[in-house]
Amino acid sequence: MNTAPILAQNDMGENHHVVMSSGGIGSYAAARRTADKYGTGNLTLLFTDVIIESGDLYRFLVETSCNIFSRPAPEELLSWWRTVPEYHQDPGARAAALVTLREEMRDIVPELVWLADGRSPWQVFADKRFLGNARRDPCSDILKRKLADRWLIANCNPLNTIVHVGIDWTEEHRYVRLGGLRALEGWRYEAPMCDAPFIMKDAMFALLALEGIRPPILYGQGFSHNNCGGFCIKAGIGHFVMLFHVNPELYAFCEQEEQRIIALIGKPVGILTDRRGGKRVPMTMRHLRERIEAGEKFDRFDLGGCGCFSGMEDDEQ
Ligand code: SF4
Repeated sequence: MNTAPILAQNDMGENHHVVMSSGGIGSYAAARRTADKYGTGNLTLLFTDVIIESGDLYRFLVETSCNIFSRPAPEELLSWWRTVPEYHQDPGARAAALVTLREEMRDIVPELVWLADGRSPWQVFADKRFLGNARRDPCSDILKRKLADRWLIANCNPLNTIVHVGIDWTEEHRYVRLGGLRALEGWRYEAPMCDAPFIMKDAMFALLALEGIRPPILYGQGFSHNNCGGFCIKAGIGHFVMLFHVNPELYAFCEQEEQRIIALIGKPVGILTDRRGGKRVPMTMRHLRERIEAGEKFDRFDLGGCGCFSGMEDDEQ
């Protein structure tokens, strides 16, 4: 866990602004808007690391954090990910390299609070003896929401702290849910990208280009989010089909991990849900792969959702 000194609360009575930074375009845009509106003197970026992110997400986090605080981004940290194996290629090496990256960033941008439980979602599923799915997400609950909540309670004063989230106006239902269900009681939350000017993700990418920052690779590959390397237990079947085609190596690793957890639990569970015939039946990634390989066609727009910070919005699926 990041133990860097926390920004002192401002003696002038100004608020402390904490932006939940996920490494995606939405939270970057929210951080940029917050910095432009309030300045960076009382700004903290809070990142909760699940350690299976794509290497390029860490490049994006480093680059945008330096950009927000007007610090030069060291070239070796921007290219760090090219020399470090992805989590699914070598989990131990990836986890160890992340510890070093985190420490280096603490010196460069101390306002970036980089928290890590140290476990991956797969390790959490094994520890909880529960396989995450679109209806229950122990991964984001433990590795993101509870970790962030604990940090806020320990380090910030709810009376003068505003917590900013990267949800935008096209997904405002998540913000409503966050306020009603997920918010820490007594804390103030804002979603800068739900306010005017109402911009779409394309415009956020255009703002990013103006800063000379390359967008995260996953968006260019067709993914709608930049989380967990393109994997997500909350994703729909269309998203998993895309993962199979775009990154078969990662798909194979996740399929294997899912089988490991199922063997551990000893129950016929699955990350996915098969809704054919109006019934809901758990479906594994292995089963989906077999259907893809058999030539079956799927709804490419069944993407599901990924709201690590807003809790289980997909209960109705
Ligand atoms: S992106 Fe999906 S799999 Fe990853 S932590 Fe969030 S909910 Fe879990």
